[in-house]
Amino acid sequence: MSLQAQSILNADLHCHSFVSDGTLSPEALAARAKANGVELWALTDHDEVSGQHRAAAAAKAEGLPYLTGTEISVTFAGETVHIVGLGFEADDAALNQGLQQTRGGRELRARQMADSLALAGIKGAFEGAAKFVGNPDLISRTHFARFLVESGVCSETHEVFRKYLTEGKPGYVPHRWASLGDAVGWIVKAGGIAVIAHPGRYKFTANEEYALFTEFKAHGGKGVEVVTGSHTVQEYVKYAETALELGLAASRGSDFHSPLESRTDLGKLPVLPGALTPVWHEVAARIQWP
Ligand code: AMP
Ligand code: MN
Ligand code: MN
Ligand code: MN
Repeated sequence: MSLQAQSILNADLHCHSFVSDGTLSPEALAARAKANGVELWALTDHDEVSGQHRAAAAAKAEGLPYLTGTEISVTFAGETVHIVGLGFEADDAALNQGLQQTRGGRELRARQMADSLALAGIKGAFEGAAKFVGNPDLISRTHFARFLVESGVCSETHEVFRKYLTEGKPGYVPHRWASLGDAVGWIVKAGGIAVIAHPGRYKFTANEEYALFTEFKAHGGKGVEVVTGSHTVQEYVKYAETALELGLAASRGSDFHSPLESRTDLGKLPVLPGALTPVWHEVAARIQWP
C-alpha cells in the first residue's frame, strides 16, 4: 500500500492494553483493530513499551501495518500532559530507562491515593485496585476507578473521575512525571515522532497552551492529535487549525481502553481533515508492514 494522499487512511495510533490501563491483551486489540477496519495501528501503553513486541507480532499475524507506540506522562506548568511517541526503536536503552524512571513513583502514589480514599470512608482501595492491574509497574487511577465501580461506590468509571481521583477530590494525589524535554528527547533519539496527545483535555489558559506547543516544538516535537476519542468536533477544528498554524503533523487515535468503558472504539473516528499532514507521512519508513 502506498501512503500517498492517505489522509483518509483508517489509522488508529492511540490505545491501551492491560500492559497499562486497558483491559484487553495486545493480541485481542490487534484482532479488534483489524475487525474494525483499521489500516495502520499503534499500541500506546502509558509509560511502557513492554507490550510492543507482542503488539507488532499480533499486527503482522492480522495483516495489519504497525507503528511502535507509547504515551508518556509529563508534568508541564503544574499539569499532567501526555506525549505520544510513534515509530521509535522499542529496545532503545535510553527510552526504556526513561520510561522505567517515569513509572517509578506509581506504587507509592497509589498507596497515598488509597490512604486518602480511606479517610473518605473507602477502605481497601490499594488491594482492590491491584486486582485489576496487569502490570505491577503500572498501577494507575483507572485501576482505582474499576475498583470503585466494582464495589458499588460509583456506577461507571467517568463518574469515579468526577467524584474522586481528580484535583480537589478524595483520592487525588499530585505527582511529578517526566519533563517535557526529556519525554520528547527519549522518543526522538529512539527514531520516533513525538505527538501532543489530546490537547483539548488540558486545563490551560491560551498562554499556557501556546507555551506548551512552543516548548514542545523547541524540543523536537512534530505532531499533535487532532482527531481523538477525547476531542469534541469543535476541538477537531481548533487543533486542525493549530496544526496548520504551527506546522505540526496531525495524528488520529481512539484512546480505546476497554469495550465496557470506552466511548470510541478502535478505528471508529472521522478521518483527518485533508489539508493536514498525517503523522504517518513523517514516520513512513518506520511502519512495520505485514
Ligand atoms: P494516571 O496515569 O494514573 O494518572 O491515570 C490516567 C488515566 O486515567 C488516563 O490515561 C485515563 O485512562 C484515565 N482517566 C483520566 N481522566 C478520566 C476521566 N475523566 N474519565 C475516565 N478516565 C479517565
Ligand atoms: Mn489511560
Ligand atoms: Mn492520555
Ligand atoms: Mn491514552
